[in-house]
Amino acid sequence: MSAVSNYQQILAQIAEICAKCGRDPEEITLLSVSKTYSASSVLEVYEGGGRDFGENKVQELCDKSGQLPQDIRWHMIGHLQRNKVKYIVDKVSLIHSVDSVRLAAEIEKEAAKKNVEVPILLEVNVAGEESKFGLAPEEVLTTAKQIADFAHVKIRGLMTIAPYVVNSEENRQYFRFLRQLSVDIKSENIDNISMDILSMGMTGDYDVAIEEGATILRVGTGIFGERHYD
Ligand SMILES: *Cc1c(COP(=O)(O)O)cnc(C)c1O
Repeated sequence: MSAVSNYQQILAQIAEICAKCGRDPEEITLLSVSKTYSASSVLEVYEGGGRDFGENKVQELCDKSGQLPQDIRWHMIGHLQRNKVKYIVDKVSLIHSVDSVRLAAEIEKEAAKKNVEVPILLEVNVAGEESKFGLAPEEVLTTAKQIADFAHVKIRGLMTIAPYVVNSEENRQYFRFLRQLSVDIKSENIDNISMDILSMGMTGDYDVAIEEGATILRVGTGIFGERHYD
């Protein structure tokens, strides 16, 4: 199957799941995770209607954004080092992977220089996995309050990478937990924070993520096929 037909098939599946659980498919963005795939693969999905693409490396994001149509919305979804923030602040439409005040402070500094506002998500390590980045759930509220003081950084919601599982049902608890955390933070009515985005669900578990309230699904393999790393 080609990437574009996979993309369209997943859109159809999103609509089907939404119909079953009473959600509006318009409130869900299918983010095509194009890391390791060529600009021409991105273009194929773009021509099939895709506008949101996710990368996990700064260099690759910069390379592709320079070569591809300007109306693509690039999402930074991977761990971000502070010394590389300057390369992407004016190229990304959303940074999903903010997990410290120090990183947000660097984004604030570079965004102020370029006079842009950068929308971000706080990454939460919902299952407490050693191997993963992200804030511990109990750190999220205090971190959000500190970042809310930055004028050029806008917290839009939460992101998580759930554990790798064979049966997506096993991740329902984590998606439900992330949604509840976002509801709790929203109820604090903190200035400069909105909690309208929940980035959760990947190829193996986006079906359950939709049922639990995801608004951005990050799908790589399901669209582009297995990745090959050099
Ligand atoms: C690679 C990646 C994805 C996509 O994973 P698939 O299982 O290929 O859909 C989603 N989110 C993040 C943060 C990733 O790094």
